[in-house]
Amino acid sequence: MLYPGIIKKYLDFLPVAETSIVTLHEGNTPLFESQRLVKELKLPIKLFYKLEGLNPTGSFKDRGMTYAVSKAHEAGFKAVICASTGNTSAAAAAYAARAGMQALVVIPKGKVALGKLAQAQIHGAKVFQVDGNFDQALNVVKEVAEHPKVSLVNSINPYRLMGQQSAAFEIVESLGDAPDYHFIPVGNAGNIVAYWRGYKKFYEIAKAKKLPKMCGFQAAGAAPIVEGHVIEHPETVATAIRIGNPANWKFAEEVAAESQGFIKAVTDEEILDAYRKVAQIDGYFCEPASAASLAGVIKMAQSGFFKSGDTVVCTLTGHGLKDPDQAIQQSPPPIPISADAQALLKHINL
Ligand SMILES: *Cc1c(COP(=O)(O)O)cnc(C)c1O
Repeated sequence: MLYPGIIKKYLDFLPVAETSIVTLHEGNTPLFESQRLVKELKLPIKLFYKLEGLNPTGSFKDRGMTYAVSKAHEAGFKAVICASTGNTSAAAAAYAARAGMQALVVIPKGKVALGKLAQAQIHGAKVFQVDGNFDQALNVVKEVAEHPKVSLVNSINPYRLMGQQSAAFEIVESLGDAPDYHFIPVGNAGNIVAYWRGYKKFYEIAKAKKLPKMCGFQAAGAAPIVEGHVIEHPETVATAIRIGNPANWKFAEEVAAESQGFIKAVTDEEILDAYRKVAQIDGYFCEPASAASLAGVIKMAQSGFFKSGDTVVCTLTGHGLKDPDQAIQQSPPPIPISADAQALLKHINL
């Protein structure tokens, strides 16, 4: 039977008129255990990756977008609008296409990974580029969303976070309980809040016997929560978390405190190291922002943070093909050879 998507699967938590459901069969993503990486780095834990890059548009944003667009459709809106560093716009464009609605996408100048822009364009969104950063783009969007036919689908839309809770439900269903720790990248900080709410719901209805400690990671050049102030000019290779003034800042701090977790920073070097390692040692290609969660796991493990046998889930938020430029920059160039086997064999040493 075809998996119906997260709304039908979790309809009790995501109520909407059945005729308004807009789905691309998002969710139901694999939770895979790390094999070689935990051994090579001598991590004393059971480490699982939640592979959110395997959603229909290649990131977890689909979980929130299916519900936000369904609710907009139900309410009779004609268009959806968002500001985005990329993945939100890719998802908004795809779900709007599915719904027969117009998608309006506002991106910050020159800071969007190529794959994401390509998605918004091919799905038929009207794409506008603002001469400014993400936070400025969001201000434009908020004003336009006052139009009666336009629904805002940035993460300040409450339906987005409600849909995103489904990832925590799936993890509890896969493991039979919540993990001890959940590691996750933090940008606008919606996802960390959504996971926590999801874990709490399953705890309340006794599907989980415990709650995880939520451990969020910002990029060091874009770490307003860690530093305790707005960052005017956030800088990081991890473009999906290049956010200077997170929309869910206060909620994220509450989640860290309530779950006895934390929000910390990892450097671009640590992010890129984890990005290459998860691809080269465990075989999963995620985008740089996603690797912030694994960079956090590696960093905390090296400081002796974990007990032996702790269960850790690490959300890999988006697919690596979103940002092909980074993958190429982080890899040696192709080796030029003449067209014969001997020329190739000279370069290998098995
Ligand atoms: C949106 C996004 C994030 C950040 O999630 P927030 O909810 O904004 O904290 C991280 N990684 C990827 C790939 C994203 O698309």
